[in-house]
Amino acid sequence: MAEMIAPIAVATGGWPKIAKSPTDLRVQPNLLDYAATRTSFSWEEIRHELSGLPGGKGINIAHEAVDRHALGSGSYRLALRWLSKKGEARDFTYGELRDQTSQFANVLRSLGIGKGDRVFALMGRIPELYVTALGTLKNTSVLSPLFSAFGPEPIKQRLTIGEGRVLVTTPNLYRRKVAVIRSELPKLEYIILVGKPGEATDVPGTLDYHTLMAQAPVDFTIPETDPEDMALLHFTSGTTGTPKGAVHVHQAVVNHYMTSKYALDLQPDDIFWCTADPGWVTGTSYGIISPLLHGITNVIDEAEFDAERWYGIIQDQRVSVWYTAPTAVRMMMKIGIDVVKDFDLSSLRFIASVGEPLNPEAVVWGQEAFGLPIHDNWWQTETGGIMIANYAAMDIKPGSMGKPLPGIEASIVKREPDGSVAEILAPNTEGELALRPGWPSMFRAYLNNETRYNKCFNGGWYFSGDLAKRDEDGYFWFVGRADDVIKSAGHLIGPFEVESALIEHPAIAEAGVIGKPDPVVGEIVKAFVSLNSGFEGSEDLRRELQGFARKRLGAVVAPKEIEFQDRLPKTRSGKIMRRLLKARELGLPEGDTSTLED
Ligand code: ATP
Ligand code: MG
Repeated sequence: MAEMIAPIAVATGGWPKIAKSPTDLRVQPNLLDYAATRTSFSWEEIRHELSGLPGGKGINIAHEAVDRHALGSGSYRLALRWLSKKGEARDFTYGELRDQTSQFANVLRSLGIGKGDRVFALMGRIPELYVTALGTLKNTSVLSPLFSAFGPEPIKQRLTIGEGRVLVTTPNLYRRKVAVIRSELPKLEYIILVGKPGEATDVPGTLDYHTLMAQAPVDFTIPETDPEDMALLHFTSGTTGTPKGAVHVHQAVVNHYMTSKYALDLQPDDIFWCTADPGWVTGTSYGIISPLLHGITNVIDEAEFDAERWYGIIQDQRVSVWYTAPTAVRMMMKIGIDVVKDFDLSSLRFIASVGEPLNPEAVVWGQEAFGLPIHDNWWQTETGGIMIANYAAMDIKPGSMGKPLPGIEASIVKREPDGSVAEILAPNTEGELALRPGWPSMFRAYLNNETRYNKCFNGGWYFSGDLAKRDEDGYFWFVGRADDVIKSAGHLIGPFEVESALIEHPAIAEAGVIGKPDPVVGEIVKAFVSLNSGFEGSEDLRRELQGFARKRLGAVVAPKEIEFQDRLPKTRSGKIMRRLLKARELGLPEGDTSTLED
């Protein structure tokens, strides 16, 4: 942030701390003594909890996730339980997953696709997506997963930036979205279509997945993989602008393992469910890789959000650790707690959330609904894995993102106009959240955008672009994205605290807050809200909400304007697009909307 004006001190909700006792935890958490674990932590030691490729030939994500577990009786352990939209289940043991991913690696090899070549996946959450992802990594090619709901333009944009040589998709998606752009993708050599099992696809200019797989041998030796070999290309969510292609390498797996051990507390008998789509980094780092690193069962649901379906999955699959997102939690809150009570969710022992600020009310709601608070954690596409978390053993301050994980150094800094760090700020002062680079899943580049990449670093720090503060106990609190922060009458106002206060009103389901230019005070606070069922937007309600917000936030921070909307614009990964609310309010161009949900 170039210009720094006096932040305004507003108590963050004043929600009581949720203290943890050993009986709440049910099992002994992996991270018990935070201070001691941080002090003695070394990435090298964590690396030694993984296997490395046989013969000292480096480290490969797919080997750590699949092959090393598929030995002896480990082959029969359940790796994936896939649930189709219609509710059928298909199981894959570690042995089956090893064989199929080896076959897919052989398919790529037979096509002349090798180390560093980009393989894009454009599919819904079907089993072949998981085989494609892990088989690509085995072959030391680079996986770039795309969200299946993207239209032709965003697909073309990403395939072009990523120089995709192979695209694995379905006949339906191919016809609707890829055929029209194919002639504009000269570097795309192979399109592999995943039809229904047992039915060969027959589309000119494409290859058939099942035919190729049937011809491919099941033996595959993973080639030597340097820890710095490129493994994943993930596009950011596009919340603040055009999505950037973040490059990750194979040793990112060390961080995937560490974070799922300490932040998600994965243990040998867990059944894990991450609700994110692999089209986003969460759905790959935690929806594919992390649970397999621990040799446990990963539940995959093909269908989209539906509260009752989700509770049914937790109940029937006996999910013990559940990783989800604030938008989903807010939708569950909107539907109400009564629905939860129809299900037996006693298998759950740990719930976590990521992607957006988690309102304190949502944390507490988790406790009422599931008997467990929801543990917020923070990270970005760029960081490749969780950086700041509420881990299982820690007392929660609702509304806080938690503390930096072992191995992660985070600070709140003030920057000079030239980008260098002017000072590390004292507790309870808002500033930019910065991290010391060096963790294994740190991104290595924004593909084809070195200038943008270089801008993220200065003086031995990585700058996240998010504003936050740290309190005297070392808890981090999200304030807002640097671009979203509102400057009003000499004060700096984070949209998150305004939104959190608003959704505490029974009428409000979701809120998105922006700064609207004002000749007198610089910017005024404007809120867009969607209502819970049973409420209608009216002048009376608006006045009531304004009074409610003033009482909680004070006159300076409370929104001057409130507008009712049926639904707020969001990215497909569920993030409120405040920049779009602002552009629409001001009649400005909407910019890149490739990730906007329908
Ligand atoms: P783009 O960079 O393209 O604008 P994006 O930043 O939304 O998109 P992601 O990398 O998917 O793309 O999201 C990371 C961002 O999400 C963080 O920088 C932060 O702003 C927000 N975020 C993630 N987790 C949390 C959290 N627990 N609390 C608050 N914000 C969060
Ligand atoms: Mg970002």
